[in-house]
Amino acid sequence: MPAERALPAGGTIGIIGGGQLGRMTALAAARLGYRCHVYCPEGEGPASQVAAALTTAAYEDEAALAAFAAAVDVVTFEFENIPAASVRVLERLVPVRPGWRVLDTAQDRVVEKRFFNGLGIATAPWRAVNSLAGLNQALAELGRPAVLKTTRFGYDGKGQSKIGADDDAAQAWRALNGAPAILEGFVDFEREVSVIVARGQDGATACFDVVENRHKNHILDVTLAPAALPAALAGEAQAIAAAAARALDLVGLLAVELFVSRDGRLLVNEMAPRPHNSGHWTMNACQTDQFEQLVRAVCGLPLGSPARFADAEMTNLIGDDILTVPALLAEPGAHLHLYGKAEARPGRKMGHVNRIRPLSSF
Ligand code: AMP
Repeated sequence: MPAERALPAGGTIGIIGGGQLGRMTALAAARLGYRCHVYCPEGEGPASQVAAALTTAAYEDEAALAAFAAAVDVVTFEFENIPAASVRVLERLVPVRPGWRVLDTAQDRVVEKRFFNGLGIATAPWRAVNSLAGLNQALAELGRPAVLKTTRFGYDGKGQSKIGADDDAAQAWRALNGAPAILEGFVDFEREVSVIVARGQDGATACFDVVENRHKNHILDVTLAPAALPAALAGEAQAIAAAAARALDLVGLLAVELFVSRDGRLLVNEMAPRPHNSGHWTMNACQTDQFEQLVRAVCGLPLGSPARFADAEMTNLIGDDILTVPALLAEPGAHLHLYGKAEARPGRKMGHVNRIRPLSSF
């Protein structure tokens, strides 16, 4: 793909979504001399607090989308559950990176699984499920335990349930209220890992090291960088992410979550075409962090080096974890990132802390 002219410093990046990922993207953009204009329905929040401009409007509001497009030079998003139709409206008016096709693939678990399997990349075995009869058939084929998930709008374990040997399939189906679903065979994984690749307008890719993710109550708790994986397996995970980004012709970031099975195989769980919580460690341990890579990619700048210069452990500060901030501020080697959220509700991501251990060879 021929590279377009880079967006000069002083240009404006439009960010769809107003949360912490947008905030950290806007901070990285500011370092490179850009301004950011945030578009989200919620009004003032983590991203708009550090942005030059804010549009508060529904994602379906075509007039607001058009005015936003006219006010920015390029659009990216920090949140993928926005209607793909709205992204298409924007794309007619302004470059959107990544584009709607990428979003469309990542928003639906069935489309996403087909996409990976079509590239010859393994996932858990799965069946699309649209009725109780379909669920029973899929359970007969895949066996129990299995995991039933809505195809769309699921995050942090929401919209999914495990169906074990003694569980009532009808009850699991009813809980989804008729939403289209996918049944996945349960993966008895050894660990969960993820990898983030950046892809520039010229097609160049840069992959961060593969990391291990540990969850608590279905929410990411800790990321360990690097993951303790054989080098060949880590390389395979990076190759999967790069192949997916190329196949999607993606410009921006692609995060891919994978299971490592007990017999040492990689199975893709899902992908997100945006900055990812499991990449927050890069802010203090890499030559270029994930947010700056996103800014570089969407603005047509060369990608930076993703090289890791330290081992890192990222811990999310969720809900009342915010009370530990005074102790974290006193801890040498702890890098604190807070998101500016006023109220610490249970399950709410308030910030994160990166603890780094410099490599002895550095
Ligand atoms: P997801 O929303 O797909 O990322 O799933 C949330 C979490 O549920 C994952 O990080 C896993 O810990 C677990 N999980 C999801 N799908 C499966 C599966 N097919 N087998 C085993 N565990 C799963």
